[in-house]
Amino acid sequence: MHKIVIFGAPGVGKGTQSQLLSEKLNLYHLSTGEVLRKAISDETDLGLKAKKIVESGHLVSDDLMIEIVVDALKNNVKGTEGFILDGFPRTIEQAGALDNILKELGLDDLKVLHLVANDDEIIKRLMLRGRTDDNAETIKLRLKVYIDSTKPILEYYKPDRKIIEVNGIGEIEDVFNKIVSYLQ
Ligand code: ADP
Repeated sequence: MHKIVIFGAPGVGKGTQSQLLSEKLNLYHLSTGEVLRKAISDETDLGLKAKKIVESGHLVSDDLMIEIVVDALKNNVKGTEGFILDGFPRTIEQAGALDNILKELGLDDLKVLHLVANDDEIIKRLMLRGRTDDNAETIKLRLKVYIDSTKPILEYYKPDRKIIEVNGIGEIEDVFNKIVSYLQ
């Protein structure tokens, strides 16, 4: 079983690499950003609650996100070779809740895949991507939220989790091959 959290700043390539990995290794891929964007475009209750927050670059509440992820893991991991979480956890509180649910499901011993790139590269990529939350002001806020709320999770994981650090700059395929070789 692969139990992977893909971690890194906005725009570092988490979505692209998790998609490829989930196909290659038959993993359940959960992107919380995708879940929220779909809910927003379908105008579900979740979408209506999340729309303004996501579009401004702030974080959706821990309670809401934890509920989404707990349900998703309970219902979708069976029959796969494991999972890859992309965009979760984003706060220490989410990381703690994730540990609890994984313990309950007998899926602990996470690997943390940390994709790294410098700010200039990240800003360039996000501006090119052009999602509704990819404008200059929101990008600046999302990078700040990443530094303040999300990056500290690495310290939380450091003592007893395997952290694999991979340079996210380069061709998609080269980055992917590096990740696969580290995981095997
Ligand atoms: P990025 O590619 O910029 O990392 P994502 O697609 O992962 O962005 O997420 C987009 C937005 O969705 C975030 O800026 C945030 O508003 C919201 N979001 C996604 N995951 C979470 C989470 N785990 N906790 C709180 N908010 C989240």
